[in-house]
Amino acid sequence: MRRTYIAGNWKMHKTVSEAVALARELAPAAAEVDHDVMIAPPFTSLASVGEALRGSKIILGAQNMGPAESGAHTGEVSPLMLLDVGVQTVILGHSERRHKYGEPDELINEKVLLALGHGLAVVLCVGETIEERESGTTENVVERQVRGGLAGVLSDQMERITVAYEPVWAIGTGKTATPEDADAVHAFIRRLVAELYSSDIAEDLTIQYGGSVKPANVKDLMAKSNIDGALVGGASLTAEAFIPIVKFDA
Ligand code: PEP
Repeated sequence: MRRTYIAGNWKMHKTVSEAVALARELAPAAAEVDHDVMIAPPFTSLASVGEALRGSKIILGAQNMGPAESGAHTGEVSPLMLLDVGVQTVILGHSERRHKYGEPDELINEKVLLALGHGLAVVLCVGETIEERESGTTENVVERQVRGGLAGVLSDQMERITVAYEPVWAIGTGKTATPEDADAVHAFIRRLVAELYSSDIAEDLTIQYGGSVKPANVKDLMAKSNIDGALVGGASLTAEAFIPIVKFDA
């Protein structure tokens, strides 16, 4: 079912006590809205934030996941470990993972299938660089990432997939895609998912926009018919900025 979905990716920010304090501040605001709200703290805070969110409607998300259940994967965290601390959803294919840590579509796809196989939901991030946008290849890049990320995902697993369109040039830069430009890429993704699965699955797919979403621009973005939510980085790090985004339609 397509739903309105506001998510905060805290990236490599916040100690455990800072993360718990922010989660506690956000919980009452999330309770006031009808839509879904997710926060993704760093791995070190997941267990404590999960405890702090007990009884709250906020979804606990992880920012990444290793590609195996266990074994010799130094530095990685497995789906079983995420489930163990109450994680419900995992962000995969974030542009920082793709571009700073060299994660290819094949690896992201492996993680998507593993996460779904363990009952987790997935936020699959896609988006083009500035060079790709300027050379007119945005749709080719996004198509490759969507096809690659979803390879082998079954129709009945698609209800646990959210796609986040995050143009790399708009992440953390203060530059936001215009609502019209973002909506056009979202519509393209929806058409592609209709081709890969069915028009019902495409209609039900939640597609978030990410890239310098702020209290000042969230309403205009969310007014677009193909933009169903936001994946927020910088502006999710304080209650002052994130609560107005969560309550964009209040
Ligand atoms: C992100 O990290 O996914 C993101 C969109 O960051 P920001 O909102 O800071 O651009």
